Amino acid sequence: MASFGVDVALIRNISIKVNDARDRCSAVSAAIRNMKPLLIDNADLKKYPKLKKLLNNREIGSVYVLPIIVENNVEGVFALCSSKQSVFTSEACAILEEMTEDLAFGIQSLRIRHSHEEAQKTIRRLAFFDSVTKLPNHVKMENVLNGALSSSESTHVQSALLIIGINRFRDINTTLGFDAGNHVLSQIAARLKKSVSNNEKLFRVRGDEFAVFIEGATAEIAGEKASEIQKMLASQFNMEGFSLSMFASIGIVLIPDHGESVDKLLPHADVALQHAKQTGKPYEFYTPSLDSDTEYYLKLASKLYRAIECDQLELYYQPKISMVSGKVCGFEALARWFPPNERMIPPDTFIGLAEKTGMITPISYWVIESALRQSCLWRQSNINLPIAINLSARNLHDARLLDYIKERSVAWELKAGMLEVEITENAIMEDRNVAFAILSGIRDLGIPIYIDDFGSGQSSLQILGELPISALKIDKSFVIGMMENNANAIVRAAINLAKEMGLGVVAEGIENEMVWTQLMELDCDYGQGYYMGKPMSAGEVVTWLGTSRFGNVS
Ligand code: C2E
Ligand code: CA
Ligand code: CA
Repeated sequence: MASFGVDVALIRNISIKVNDARDRCSAVSAAIRNMKPLLIDNADLKKYPKLKKLLNNREIGSVYVLPIIVENNVEGVFALCSSKQSVFTSEACAILEEMTEDLAFGIQSLRIRHSHEEAQKTIRRLAFFDSVTKLPNHVKMENVLNGALSSSESTHVQSALLIIGINRFRDINTTLGFDAGNHVLSQIAARLKKSVSNNEKLFRVRGDEFAVFIEGATAEIAGEKASEIQKMLASQFNMEGFSLSMFASIGIVLIPDHGESVDKLLPHADVALQHAKQTGKPYEFYTPSLDSDTEYYLKLASKLYRAIECDQLELYYQPKISMVSGKVCGFEALARWFPPNERMIPPDTFIGLAEKTGMITPISYWVIESALRQSCLWRQSNINLPIAINLSARNLHDARLLDYIKERSVAWELKAGMLEVEITENAIMEDRNVAFAILSGIRDLGIPIYIDDFGSGQSSLQILGELPISALKIDKSFVIGMMENNANAIVRAAINLAKEMGLGVVAEGIENEMVWTQLMELDCDYGQGYYMGKPMSAGEVVTWLGTSRFGNVS
């Protein structure tokens, strides 16, 4: 309450209760309730005993109470008292009313201006900062790059931009939800913040990409920074209830060498990043020759979309041999791509691409369907050998996969034990909980599970022990060179380990008789390799079964 005039102290004692029935006789509450100015002349004063009492029989001639209305709310009251009667003529009232309206308008304008300023601050924050990590975003980054480009013209100072891609981050979002994804991002941001120094700036560029700008950096400094960041992100993140490690790939551009404008620099940084991802290198500098590689992969990806529809994929079958009987005991299905009028494209080239583009889902469905059809055909020719298919990490996040396998197995009248699954240890370690659920589902369908490329990944034995698996497949890199170096010790250890865990063991990559014999001595259960049989088309398998010394199934 603010007041001006003679009886300031008196006014301070006024208390107004707008909705109090007893207060009906207060002039101020009447004006507030009715939302209208109220004029009280001497004659009406008796209607407002409270006012009279308040004024304590002072000489009072007239009162004019004006509500201040802002956006349909009474925000205040403007009350005038005079000892003279009838001072508030109709002209005076009109002027006072207009003044009150101006006051109300002024309050409203101030408020709107304030809320606009707030809104602008929010917009500015959203436009330049990422709301999850609170880091400056790509707009800020582009400003910084523009600044670096223009200053480099006069100062000749070279800078570097590192684009950091977090691999398989999308999987975290899809399996654990966006909240968990955001939590992971904040933790990544926190680690990155710790690693940047004063002449470096950190940004969150988009979804799973961060960037570090280093002013005055040589290629050497940029490379060192990239490996430092890579290592730092690779150590375990402890989340509520689980821990996980991140693998980051980094693309590097030097400024101004790798582009005279932001529009050139950023795509070049992206090319370098994609290349690092494809090759599995921790980081990669942009060079013009990478452009053509990327172009090749992009073209390949678009062709791959049509490969299934156009019937360009084919399953080849490589025999698995029992080392006890020396005879074939099953086949592994391996995908091949035959684009028209071109050479065969091996799975090492297109499976990785399919995993990145999401094409692995339809490809795996196609593999399942084709393997089941082949199994049915072989059964009709009295070939009763199981077929193992390969699944990728992404397949483990596919909720429909189990139902699909179930439905197609029924459709092709699959006999028990005739389908097997191989999955790499890395795919499982990426997200054990998800892997555990789906692998249990596969096992419950009576499908044996093989851990592929065993020894090449970073799996923990404790976790492997908890998984519903049947056998370990020792990675061929150890088997191929078994006779020459200490790979022998690794193979020996892996075989013993499998036995201790009650699992079967397969050695893949047996290329000659010496390795075969050695593995027999080490008591390995099964073998696979060019020595016994290369991957073959379904037609060639029939011939091989009839002619190879490993093929006679009788
Ligand atoms: P993998 O599952 O480890 O398959 C074994 C690979 O080793 C095959 O290569 C096979 O041809 C090769 N190999 C077998 N014996 C020998 C040998 O004695 N010496 C040598 N040097 N190599 C041998 P391939 O067919 O090129 O497949 C490569 C990889 O592509 C596979 O590795 C697998 O990870 C992936 N892949 C193949 N088909 C599929 C598929 O249908 N789905 C998925 N998700 N991945 C597949
Ligand atoms: Ca395999
Ligand atoms: Ca393998």
